[in-house]
Amino acid sequence: MTYATSLTCRECSREFPLDPLHVCDFCFGPLEVAYDHDGIQSKISRERIESGPRSIWRYKDLLPVDDEFIVDLNVGWTPLLRADRLAEQLGMRELYIKNDTCNPSWSFKDRVVAVASSRARQMGFQTLACASTGNLANSVSAHAARAGMDAIVFIPHDLEAGKVLGSAVYNPTIVAVNGSYDDVNRLCSELADNRQWAFVNINVRPYYAEGSRTLAYEVAEQLGWRAPRQVVAPMASGSLFTKIHKGFQEFQRYGLIEDTPIRMIGAQAEGCSPITTAWRGGTTNIRPVKPDTIAKSLAIGNPADGYYALKTMKRTDGGATGVSDAEVVEGIQLLAEYEGVFAETAGGVTIAGLRQAIATEQIDPDETTVAFITGGGLKTADAIVEHVTQPIPVEGTLQSFEDAFAEAPQAATVGG
Ligand SMILES: *Cc1c(COP(=O)(O)O)cnc(C)c1O
Ligand SMILES: [Zn+2]
Repeated sequence: MTYATSLTCRECSREFPLDPLHVCDFCFGPLEVAYDHDGIQSKISRERIESGPRSIWRYKDLLPVDDEFIVDLNVGWTPLLRADRLAEQLGMRELYIKNDTCNPSWSFKDRVVAVASSRARQMGFQTLACASTGNLANSVSAHAARAGMDAIVFIPHDLEAGKVLGSAVYNPTIVAVNGSYDDVNRLCSELADNRQWAFVNINVRPYYAEGSRTLAYEVAEQLGWRAPRQVVAPMASGSLFTKIHKGFQEFQRYGLIEDTPIRMIGAQAEGCSPITTAWRGGTTNIRPVKPDTIAKSLAIGNPADGYYALKTMKRTDGGATGVSDAEVVEGIQLLAEYEGVFAETAGGVTIAGLRQAIATEQIDPDETTVAFITGGGLKTADAIVEHVTQPIPVEGTLQSFEDAFAEAPQAATVGG
């Protein structure tokens, strides 16, 4: 049974029932799920969590869904890799990679959709929908298939082929809107008002947002029940970023980990960096932008949670980074070549942002740091295919190999 009790307004604290609502009638503030904290406190323990399934559902006491409605694709419990080779390259002492490419649809969006789709089922919806920059549509399509629900996903017309295929294979209805993500979102907001569809990131957004906290829970548990000192995470709407911090805070509140400060660093691509720009300008007034970057999964020009992301940075003595598309490609290559993890462009933004945060002294290279890698690389192959090593063509004979290998520039890097 869930301990979720109501939705509350983040601005005026008014309470609403656990319905498909996302804005406050009184002040238009965003709604957030509230819980019975005493109930959770009396039940929760490290042992109880450790005896749970190896997925986000080991934290179900902290999620707003009753057991019988859970849509289970075994999302989460992804690897936390100690990244010593990359750390050395960046001049760091203790770096970890939270590898969320290892989710069923290869991105962290499976966490938010697992929770939103389950709650949508609990509220009686037959159809899952979303406004997506790609990964969300993939995950909504997969979860609808798993749950036997219908799916209709809305995407910008110019998405990477891998992202479109990543939805299409599950056979949803796909609508490609001639415009940017922000146009897609506007259309979906109008549709959400008069259709009986659960738009996971619009009318059921409060439940969706809760899923991101599981990233922090897992990291704390995987670090041996402690929080990192510093976090670098990518920002699109800014929801993931704020909820990672909230997740650590909850674990502190329930006494599962020690109450230590966590510095939160956000990462965006310069071609769509409204949150970073506001941070650098010392304002919480976010100016919407028209995205132009290869980091399409982060290309939200008008970020719904940008204001809260800025507040999180401020409160945690954190910061923000903005990196060029060339640096995004370098970030992907660094992570792949030094740690064996193939990330999509958002992961390139995170690694390049980490490097920038060290250079600008926003983070201390001697403190424990976790970088969140939120999506897998095969979906954004277009971004790097021109920049990677090419095969050496040979005939199947020793002579042919020896001749070609002697000539090949890559030969110099092969030892033994
Ligand atoms: C959606 C997404 C994010 C960030 O999402 P928010 O809107 O900021 O919560 C980060 N990485 C990837 C790969 C994504 O698809
Ligand atoms: Zn309100």
